[in-house]
Amino acid sequence: MAERVIPLIDQRLAALGATLPALPIAANGLLADSLGRPLRDLRISVTDRCNFRCSYCMPKEVFDKDHQYLPHASLLSFEEITRLARQFLAHGVRKIRLTGGEPLLRKNLEILVEQLAALRTMDGTPPELTLTTNGSLLARKAQALKAAGLQRVTVSLDGLDDAIFRRMNDVDFPVADVLEGIAAARAAGLGPIKVNMVVKRGTNDDQILPMARHFRGSGVVLRFIEYMDVGATNGWRMDEVMPSAEVRARIATELPLLQLDPSAPGETAERWGYADGSGEIGLISSVTQAFCGDCNRARLSTEGRLYLCLFAGNGYDLRALLRGGAGDAELASAVGHIWQGRGDRYSQLRGTLAAGPGGAPKRRVEMSYIGG
Ligand code: SF4
Repeated sequence: MAERVIPLIDQRLAALGATLPALPIAANGLLADSLGRPLRDLRISVTDRCNFRCSYCMPKEVFDKDHQYLPHASLLSFEEITRLARQFLAHGVRKIRLTGGEPLLRKNLEILVEQLAALRTMDGTPPELTLTTNGSLLARKAQALKAAGLQRVTVSLDGLDDAIFRRMNDVDFPVADVLEGIAAARAAGLGPIKVNMVVKRGTNDDQILPMARHFRGSGVVLRFIEYMDVGATNGWRMDEVMPSAEVRARIATELPLLQLDPSAPGETAERWGYADGSGEIGLISSVTQAFCGDCNRARLSTEGRLYLCLFAGNGYDLRALLRGGAGDAELASAVGHIWQGRGDRYSQLRGTLAAGPGGAPKRRVEMSYIGG
């Protein structure tokens, strides 16, 4: 097997200034980017820390014991996150997802959940409030998160076989504890629960059928994610990608599937139901079937940088505006200005763009820094 080359660089790249447009941009929910895509989904990373070292996201070789995490003072406070989230909702966001790193490592996260749950979308309803976690702390936190206003969780689980799972997360964490977290989330009413499995050919693809069998009929929606070239540290290779079509074919050998309609515009997963009605799966195919056409997602890093794509190079520094005394209307105007200029569609153009200005980012931001 070819030697894996991992560039040792500081993942947190220089930020782009978030400027205020000459003419203020009103927050009226009609905002669209340069490809006509609205802003509907905000992913907020609340920490750059994680207790796992998944090889496709935060490889141990790079994020080792000497890795410097962001100082606490540089992280947005819960009040700052909530204030920014309010501007995104005013522009039409309907769904807020909390991510990380591992979001449950952020102390007192329930307080933030409570603050976000009190916000309202353009039509006066509460935003859809969800969270993506590796499940390691879920059994302890599920009830409190639900009580604070969290509606749903998505749990990452890359296999049922302990040895394979540990090979993927590279820490000595057992599958049983993640399954216990899922059970606790269900008992707390944090559903419907989704489980995300990243499929890496040659590492955990033999877990596809065991996972499907395990979650079929349970009410949990299992999604298979194509291994992606996120960031600059996971040593991604195309021959380790198992296309979703192959994943689906493998499942259908035993469990016939029928295609289902998307449940919402901009949905990342292609939905397939078991022919016997015992549940559904999702296929997230960023590599072989890009879904940039209706991508309505923005990402806020834990230190207040706005990223317009999972594969972006740089983010816009909203924290500087926040801590520089900008008013709500100015913040909303800056967000509007940035979104209007958005033309990102990395997955659609993967491999066709040369790195550099107007092309592919020289270095992509790490997924562990802005959330999946
Ligand atoms: S590659 Fe970027 S633009 Fe395309 S779907 Fe993913 S986040 Fe959206």
